[in-house]
Amino acid sequence: MVSRIVFGRGSFNQLDEILAPKRNGRNAPFIFYVDEVFKGNHWLTSRITLSYKDKIIYVPTKEEPKTSQIDQLVEDVILEFSELPSGIIGIGGGIVMDVAKAVSLMLTNKGQSKDYQGWDLIKNPAIYHVGIPTISGTGAEVSRTTILTGPDRKLGINSDYTPFDQVILDPELTKDVPKNQWFYTGMDCFVHCVESLNGTYLNAFSKTYGEKAYELCQEIFLSDNLTEEESQDKLMMASWHGGMSIAYSQVGVAHAMSYGLGYLLGVKHGIGNCIVFDHLEDFYPEGVAMFKKMKEQHGVELPQGICADLDENQFNTMIDVALSLEPLWENAIGKNWKTKITREVLLKLYQKM
Ligand code: NAD
Ligand code: ZN
Repeated sequence: MVSRIVFGRGSFNQLDEILAPKRNGRNAPFIFYVDEVFKGNHWLTSRITLSYKDKIIYVPTKEEPKTSQIDQLVEDVILEFSELPSGIIGIGGGIVMDVAKAVSLMLTNKGQSKDYQGWDLIKNPAIYHVGIPTISGTGAEVSRTTILTGPDRKLGINSDYTPFDQVILDPELTKDVPKNQWFYTGMDCFVHCVESLNGTYLNAFSKTYGEKAYELCQEIFLSDNLTEEESQDKLMMASWHGGMSIAYSQVGVAHAMSYGLGYLLGVKHGIGNCIVFDHLEDFYPEGVAMFKKMKEQHGVELPQGICADLDENQFNTMIDVALSLEPLWENAIGKNWKTKITREVLLKLYQKM
């Protein structure tokens, strides 16, 4: 679990105060990975104080993070600074938070990040790392994974050392998120709840968090009596609780299939989940019905026919990626999932998307 959290509008202003005691000397900088959408945005960046060798690195967010990109960022840090950084701070959405987590892990673990994609392969604790979400939904601020696309697969570095040491939850930072992106990333949270609550791995711990987040999502996306500020506050907490729920259970069908779309076509996590989830009424009837209602209420139209021109090899690649995520299927369907989830079943679903 994340050991330290602050929550509140304006809490981003406490960043300096939080970091100061963690500085290990003049040659051990704080490195701030910041979503490039904030480049030139003084409202946010003027509140990051740089001392000694501290540095801001803007992270592009058109594509999701790759293992090669992480290895390059780690090498850049090692070559530029004589000492290990005092801390790594990620300010942005799931992409930037995952970059910050992965770099902080790879600075203390030898080799390439692709070697650590999987469960509990990390040997050494990460550098002190801080997560500051600027968009809500993924739960990346609370999870024990950092999702990376490697040469062979799209899979997270899941470990007890992955979670942030400190998170700052300041809902005000999400005020300028574009509407469609707000919906896609918010729906990631909703799908986390549906997959966790309907999974065979469910237990009282994950259920408690999942139910709360599900309830918040209904309020945020279906009622129209929240102010913008209330909605931002609540979605930030839904994201946190949804993340806590899957931390102690697992995601399911939508995520497994969305990873296939992401790996082959570069479709991003949030929108990919939406595209898949829209077709999962056989697996999650209640959740999908509610999702369709939310989509309608916010006038969101999802891309159609993204698999229309794919050939057999390409479908097979997506199916291989999806099927390789065994814990997700086991959670969704049960121990005997292989009797129900055949290549044919997945092909038919992908053909609809
Ligand atoms: P994102 O990081 O992909 O960002 C989406 C877009 O929103 C970007 O264009 C970004 O620049 C913009 N944006 C972010 N904050 C903004 C703001 N305040 N104002 C205006 N624009 C803003 O979005 P995401 O959906 O949060 O993250 C998706 C990523 O998270 C994927 O790489 C996915 O694999 C990963 N993920 C990780 C976990 C985890 O547990 N580690 C869980 C789910 C998803
Ligand atoms: Zn997700």
